[in-house]
Amino acid sequence: METEALEICPYDPNHRMPPSRLQYHLASCRKKNPKIAKKMANCKYNACHVVPIKRLKEHEVNCVNRTAVDDGPATRQLGSLDPRPPGPLLLLLLLRPTRPQEGARPARMRHARLPR
Ligand SMILES: [Zn+2]
Ligand SMILES: [Zn+2]
Repeated sequence: METEALEICPYDPNHRMPPSRLQYHLASCRKKNPKIAKKMANCKYNACHVVPIKRLKEHEVNCVNRTAVDDGPATRQLGSLDPRPPGPLLLLLLLRPTRPQEGARPARMRHARLPR
């Protein structure tokens, strides 16, 4: 008989289930506990990791699903990203205005003196 380790529901410690069912359970349990869900956040590395917002940073630093690619600070050049589908995080970065200190300033085209 398989002895699968049971995961504990972050919304209610009385809920225990095998990891294979956790994601489904989280979706439904979240709706039943909206007050708790407000204080919880999803780990960006694993949708099954639901931790208190206060401890999210701490968790993500130690998350077992953390990948080396996401390791660096978010100051990577967008052009040199791996050819992976952009996740929500990347989209956020794309929507942000470019920081002035990032990279060289774009050379401004001069339109003042048009040769005629
Ligand atoms: Zn639950
Ligand atoms: Zn995690």
